[in-house]
Amino acid sequence: MTALTREQCQLLDQQDPLRALREQFALPDGVIYLDGNSLGARPRASTARAAEVVSEEWGTGLIRSWNTAGWFELPQRLGNKLAPLVGAGENEVVVTDTTSINLFKVLAAALRVQAMRDPSRKVIVSEASNFPTDLYIAQGLADLLQQGYSLRLVNSPAEIDAAVGADTAVLMLTHVNYKSGEMLDMAALTELAHARGALTVWDLCHSAGAVPVALNASNADYAIGCTYKYLNGGPGSPAFVWVAPALRDAFWQPLSGWWGHAAPFAMEPQYRPVDGVRRFLCGTQPITSMAMVECGLDIFAQTDMAALRTKSLQLTDLFIALVEERCRHHPLTLVTPREHARRGSQVSFEHPEGYAVMQALIERGVIGDYREPRIIRFGFTPLYTSFTEVWDAVETLRDVLDTETYRAERFHARGAVT
Ligand SMILES: *Cc1c(COP(=O)(O)O)cnc(C)c1O
Repeated sequence: MTALTREQCQLLDQQDPLRALREQFALPDGVIYLDGNSLGARPRASTARAAEVVSEEWGTGLIRSWNTAGWFELPQRLGNKLAPLVGAGENEVVVTDTTSINLFKVLAAALRVQAMRDPSRKVIVSEASNFPTDLYIAQGLADLLQQGYSLRLVNSPAEIDAAVGADTAVLMLTHVNYKSGEMLDMAALTELAHARGALTVWDLCHSAGAVPVALNASNADYAIGCTYKYLNGGPGSPAFVWVAPALRDAFWQPLSGWWGHAAPFAMEPQYRPVDGVRRFLCGTQPITSMAMVECGLDIFAQTDMAALRTKSLQLTDLFIALVEERCRHHPLTLVTPREHARRGSQVSFEHPEGYAVMQALIERGVIGDYREPRIIRFGFTPLYTSFTEVWDAVETLRDVLDTETYRAERFHARGAVT
């Protein structure tokens, strides 16, 4: 896409088949929100749903609501609504816990499967640029198991091929890199791993609701991801977990709490996991937060990932073209791949003063975020981001750079969350 005029962007918005969906989100005036990859915007329906859960289901229904309001079934019911977005089938996904916790469960399960097949496989291969919690969880699990497991980190996707070998138990990758926005080829890498006897764990935090994902068609083994980013589930809303049906019932996952038991209310002294993905549940779920996930998923049910992907690529193409034209005199380096097949739904640029530039943008109402080192990151959510907003955001960026507003002292102080 070439750099369009603002009028051309307005025309694209008028013709946008997804245009009506924006009305289902509550976005504040004066803000261009390009951080849905970190915390999705609020579905309007969430206010009424939250009031209903708190006042009626909790307030009036009390303990009865576990049955009468479907609380007990919620992890599975939401998993079924989420499944089509990631290429999973009915009763293959549950919404529960956090991404970090779910990663611990599936990684442990994968290592357990491999310990039976070939106990000499002790290496978990991942990328050094993976989201830190993924690496930390793998390190914590290896430390807990005390069986010589180690992590082998590659510095770029091109090195994965050489890093996966006869010693590899698991290839643990994030499908779309949180920093660069680079998307990996799930089917090809899964095939590579399987050909060498390794299992795959895919983190879909920046993929679910952002790009089409085909877990079953890619023959993936395990997947996890969060719901508070592109799925708009609300701050800290529970994550999801998917396990290939062929592997699911092979072993317990290590957080063998009573919600994964075959008969939780039989109160048996012996753990006995239920068949199916519900064995990846642990304990009592955060129902009020979990209920909000449904408001986001119900908006996705009105469209499909193919339509969202088309608009997402148009938005990111436009943003790249406009920045490269209008801000061409500034030291901005595109970090995100230009190639569509390798791009998620975000665009990252490096700028020597990235942190301050982003703070200046946020003060002007253009909300993206900053990631070390020097990366300014912009997420594009086709459900609610318009083409005109892309144009206006780039115009604000141009102004912040041309006027060097970002040099002001106040843009250099760091908060606890960046
Ligand atoms: C956002 C993100 C997480 C977050 O994990 P939490 O347990 O929800 O804090 C994990 N992995 C990746 C790749 C992410 O992008």
